[in-house]
Amino acid sequence: MNGRSPLSPGHHAGDARRAPMKAAVLRQPGLPLRIEDVLLDEPSEGEIVVRIEAAGVCHTDYHYMTGQMTCPLPVVLGHEGAGIVEQLGPRAGSTVAVGDRVALLWRPRCGECDACVSGNPVMCRLGRIQATTGGLPDGTSRLHEGAEKLHHFLGVSCFAERVVVSEKSVVRVPDGVPPEIAAIAGCAVITGLGAVLNVVEEAAGKPLLVFGAGGVGLSSIMGARLVGADPIIVVDVDPGKFELARRLGATHTIDARNGDVLERVLDIAPGGVPWAIEAIGRPSTLEQAFSCVGPQGTVVAIGLNSATATFAIPVNELVQRQKHIVGSLYGSSNPRLDLPRIFGLYLSGRLPLDELLGARLPLESVNDAYDQLAAGSIGRTVLVPGGTS
Ligand SMILES: [Zn+2]
Ligand SMILES: [Zn+2]
Repeated sequence: MNGRSPLSPGHHAGDARRAPMKAAVLRQPGLPLRIEDVLLDEPSEGEIVVRIEAAGVCHTDYHYMTGQMTCPLPVVLGHEGAGIVEQLGPRAGSTVAVGDRVALLWRPRCGECDACVSGNPVMCRLGRIQATTGGLPDGTSRLHEGAEKLHHFLGVSCFAERVVVSEKSVVRVPDGVPPEIAAIAGCAVITGLGAVLNVVEEAAGKPLLVFGAGGVGLSSIMGARLVGADPIIVVDVDPGKFELARRLGATHTIDARNGDVLERVLDIAPGGVPWAIEAIGRPSTLEQAFSCVGPQGTVVAIGLNSATATFAIPVNELVQRQKHIVGSLYGSSNPRLDLPRIFGLYLSGRLPLDELLGARLPLESVNDAYDQLAAGSIGRTVLVPGGTS
């Protein structure tokens, strides 16, 4: 315990600010994150305080650290997290209680917009508000340093000891699911697995091709095994990742640095594959994926790049072979339904998510963790803001 007085749920402490906490702040792209003392305001209506137990080191934050993608600055990064509900703001508590363990979502759902009511909450209007304002769903911030306002990252900002988030941005985590698993389930896993469960159709007994064997690509491979795809082919430039990919379900591995990827794919799946998932976000691999799908085949693009990146597709091949390219954000998921599904599969042993985990590091090691990620580390590093002991 941290020695503060017990927190009473449901009460708003007016202007009171909480004790300073450590958080990793991005002030300028290209510079390392700084661990700073940040003040977290009391939760407003519909918001909750979550003490962070685990925060995944995801490539998405890195795009903002390098300036490939931009958001309002300064910002507390981190968007893939899990923790314990510590306090409820006014009129919060319809889905969670103090003491509940929750996974954080970087796409909240309002439940009322066209996207939400048509069953596509990933496209909820609140996501846009969070991205453009750098605030919570109401567009304002709970993060300050003295008089300076800091921004939230995708409504989460979990590279910190605590967060204030909308209750609409969390899903309860059942007993038995460790915080590290809950954290990565809320981003890498739901993105990669969701693309298979929610986008790919009729995969059983058919080839499925995955570009990229990082946390997201490996989640797609696990999903491919779950739905019975066969063969399951993975392409990467780091053969060090292939052993794990095979353990998780890949039947064939292709080192993209050795020879022609299309030729190798056609050896394994004559005529091309019906589905290819591109989990890297590179123009060259998207183009490769497009060439590898057969007639009426579909490329599912789930990796991000800079805001201006484009790729080229041969027009006649698109038309004459009736190929498809679709984008899938956040696994095209409905997290309120899909995360409990993922946790259930994990608890029943059908989804070996522990295999995805890499090092556990303190929050202070965040820059080292991103250096390792940039160098191609194997396994998802998880930061533990409360300490790794
Ligand atoms: Zn992520
Ligand atoms: Zn909505």
